Amino acid sequence: MCGIVGYIGKQNAVPILIEGLKRLEYRGYDSAGIAVITENKAIIEKKKGKVSVLEKFVKGSGIEANIGIAHTRWATHGEPNEINAHPHFNADKSIMLIHNGIIENYAPLRKKLISEGYKFLSETDTEVLVHLIDKFYTKKKNLFEAVRNALLLINGTYGIAVISIYEPDKIIVARKGSPLVIGVGREENYIASDVNALITHTSSIVYLEDGEMAIVTKDNFEAKTLEDDKVEKEVVEIDIEVDEITKSGYPHFMLKEIMEQPESIRNSMRGRILMDEGVSKLGGLNGFEERIVDSERILIVACGTSWHAGLVGEYMLEQFTGIPVEVDYGSEFRYRNPIITPDDTTIFISQSGETADTLAALREAKRRQALTVGICNVVGSTIARESDTGIYIHAGPEIGVASTKAFTAQLTVLALLTVLIARSKNLSCQDGQMILKELESIPYKVEKILKLNDEIEKIAEQFKDAKNFLYLGRGYNFPVALEGALKLKEISYIHAEGYPAAEMKHGPIALIDENMPTVFIAPQDSVYEKVISNIEEVKSRKGVVIAVASEKDTKIEKLVNYTIKIPDTIRMLMPILTSIPLQLLAYHIAVKKGLNVDQPRNLAKSVTVE
Ligand code: GLU
Repeated sequence: MCGIVGYIGKQNAVPILIEGLKRLEYRGYDSAGIAVITENKAIIEKKKGKVSVLEKFVKGSGIEANIGIAHTRWATHGEPNEINAHPHFNADKSIMLIHNGIIENYAPLRKKLISEGYKFLSETDTEVLVHLIDKFYTKKKNLFEAVRNALLLINGTYGIAVISIYEPDKIIVARKGSPLVIGVGREENYIASDVNALITHTSSIVYLEDGEMAIVTKDNFEAKTLEDDKVEKEVVEIDIEVDEITKSGYPHFMLKEIMEQPESIRNSMRGRILMDEGVSKLGGLNGFEERIVDSERILIVACGTSWHAGLVGEYMLEQFTGIPVEVDYGSEFRYRNPIITPDDTTIFISQSGETADTLAALREAKRRQALTVGICNVVGSTIARESDTGIYIHAGPEIGVASTKAFTAQLTVLALLTVLIARSKNLSCQDGQMILKELESIPYKVEKILKLNDEIEKIAEQFKDAKNFLYLGRGYNFPVALEGALKLKEISYIHAEGYPAAEMKHGPIALIDENMPTVFIAPQDSVYEKVISNIEEVKSRKGVVIAVASEKDTKIEKLVNYTIKIPDTIRMLMPILTSIPLQLLAYHIAVKKGLNVDQPRNLAKSVTVE
């Protein structure tokens, strides 16, 4: 989950490493550290807290070096403090290492190393690796070989970078289950866990695969497998604008990303609509369309917000394609014995394309010969590369930890996929055109909803001290209720639950009183009257109700305490609209509570550990 960045070349590594860490801070921010080599001496600085704490410290210290590695941590083993922060190092500080992932067999390795006289400073799983490398270095006197031999003893996942004062002309990197890229420059090279750290320096990227290592020097890089076989790597040119990863005047990335949605939704459908034929065209699926259309069953696997998008996808696909759909959590799918056949299509949704549980599920589905389709935002990410075929959502970099624009872009792409499949089945050209026209009008409707920002902020003011929230919706808006509750939990730390509105009476209704606000997602669709009855039930128990309702609805405001009125669309696209006021509500409540919405406690953006 953490951020890794490294530099070797003619410039001073320190500002490059700090800048890279700041760009990666959304991946982990409980502590940060840096290690550089200058005049054959190692300098290691680690600080608890945000990268800015480390930055302040190193800025004043005048450290200069041409090689270094840096890390921003999301603790898995050992509390977030200075000692557990990375880089970790051996006894004489000659070897330094940063690690992303989990070393599963660290306990027996640690025990053995201690019996051999090694002293451990931290509680992390990571530290065993640096002592193992030290042990092999004593024998081999070759850093690459020492790292390679150490890794052969490791179970678990890692993206690592290692430097040593004995070989100060290289960074050794390796990857298994945690992303790692090399950024290629002129007389300088970079390494990172995420291309975002590098885009101000280079657009030439090499993606390491699982089981690969590399020796990165100032002028070159050489990739090998863990078995020491050479691998030829392709240098890929990436296309990300720097202003896509700055706040552009907004106080938070999250607000910027919410406000970007008209554009990100447009981008996710750009060039993908063939209006004359009433069908969508998804280039990434080329050659696989028939197999998808003919599949016996569709299985959607995802985690968190992407899982909620998957649930909406289930409603869309079942309504229009007649193919049975199941939705599962990545973590559950991989550890049960899922029934998958080669006639199934499995869809894996992940913003980052690195979500460990979703990735493991993808590999399992592949093993069982189902067709695998990735729906990702990050181009070149592992899920995107390992799926048989896929669709990019093109939402642009999403930095705020709470996903917003990726969610609505995922829904857009799922709608396009639904039309593509349905048109090969029973959907008429006219009906296809109707859906696609509606889809094209969505960004304008989103613009209208975003104009309600001030109004929603005022509502948020009333609820910033709430301790609990209930979110209720039916049909297509049931997953939106789950997503609305998740947004609030993630950034405001208010306990919130999403429920199908009708299920309320089977339990959660017991919680309703004047202190338990309920958000109803109640557009005027086919289940509207039923939702109104559920609102009555809450009101008659003194519940306070906020309703997201259709703009033409004149009766709902008489019933509820607060109304947020939004434009209408067809049922399948409604979640794209109804989710946006809930994003804004969560955002404003969290800001009013004085919380850091971009970096909520305990969370990280791309969940690359199980
Ligand atoms: N497992 C390591 C630790 O807890 C690495 C965590 C990370 O990926 O940031 O230190």
